[in-house]
Amino acid sequence: MPQTDCVVEARSVPGAGEYPVLKLPTRVLGITMPAPDVAVLRLQLPANQNLQYRAGQYVEFILRDGARRCYSMANAPHNLGSPPAIELHLRHMPGGKFTDHVFGAMKERDILRMEGPFGSFFLREDSDKPMVLLASGTGFAPIKAIVEHMQHKGIGRDGRSLLGMSAPRRSLPARLVHGHGRRDAEPALRAGAVGADRRGRLDRPHRLRARGRDGRLA
Ligand SMILES: Cc1cc2nc3c(=O)[nH]c(=O)nc-3n(C[C@H](O)[C@H](O)[C@H](O)COP(=O)(O)OP(=O)(O)OC[C@H]3O[C@@H](n4cnc5c(N)ncnc54)[C@H](O)[C@@H]3O)c2cc1C
Repeated sequence: MPQTDCVVEARSVPGAGEYPVLKLPTRVLGITMPAPDVAVLRLQLPANQNLQYRAGQYVEFILRDGARRCYSMANAPHNLGSPPAIELHLRHMPGGKFTDHVFGAMKERDILRMEGPFGSFFLREDSDKPMVLLASGTGFAPIKAIVEHMQHKGIGRDGRSLLGMSAPRRSLPARLVHGHGRRDAEPALRAGAVGADRRGRLDRPHRLRARGRDGRLA
C-alpha cells in the first residue's frame, strides 16, 4: 500500500531532443498483421515537413479527446522509403482506446495526428563499449531501427541481443529480422525464462554478436 508520494529523478541526457519536435498529420499507407495481435503500420509523412529523428526514438499520436499514445519508430531514418513513411509495430491491448481502433476500424488513407520525435533511447555513437539490446514483443521496434542504423553507418560494436518471445520461430521479431535478410537472428530469451539458453545473434555482419550459452551479458 503506498504511504507517500514517490519522486523519481532522472539525470538529463545530453543529445536528447536535438531534432525539432513537430506536430504533423500522417496518412496510413499500409496495415499488415504479422501476428493476430500485432499490426505493422506504415505512415506517410507530409512532403512539406521533414521529420528528423534518431533510431530508437518514438512519436505520440494525439487522439480526438487529446489523449496521447506513444509508439517507437521501427525503421531507421535513412530507411523511410518513397514516399517517406515511418513504420510502427503496435500490439493490440483489448479494451484499449487507441489499439482497439487500429485493430477494429482503421483503414488505409486514414489521417492520424502525430507529434515527435521524443525519447532519449538511441545509440551513443561516441562509445565503443559492448552493449546489450533487450526487448520483447513490439519492444523490438526501436531495436530494429537501431540495428538498421548501425548497418547503414557501418558501426561495428560488440553486443548481445536478447529478444523475449513466447513462440520464437514464428514470432514477430524473428520474422521481421529474417525479412530483413539477417538469417542468423535467434531469440535469446523465452518469455518467463530469464537467462539465455539460445544464441542471441542479431547482426553478425556488423559484429553485433553473442558469445556462449552461459547466460552472461558481458
Ligand atoms: C515511450 C513509449 C513507447 C511505446 N512504444 C510502443 C510500441 O512501439 N508499440 C506498442 O504496441 N506500444 C508501445 N507503447 C505503449 C502504447 O503507447 C500504448 O500504451 C498501448 O498501445 C495501449 O494503448 P491503448 O490506447 O490501446 O490502451 P489504453 O486505453 O491505454 O488501455 C490499456 C489497457 O488498459 C485497460 N484499461 C484502460 N482503462 C482501464 C480502466 N479504467 N480499468 C481497467 N483497465 C483499463 C485496457 O483495456 C487496455 O487493455 C509505448 C509506450 C511508451 C511510453
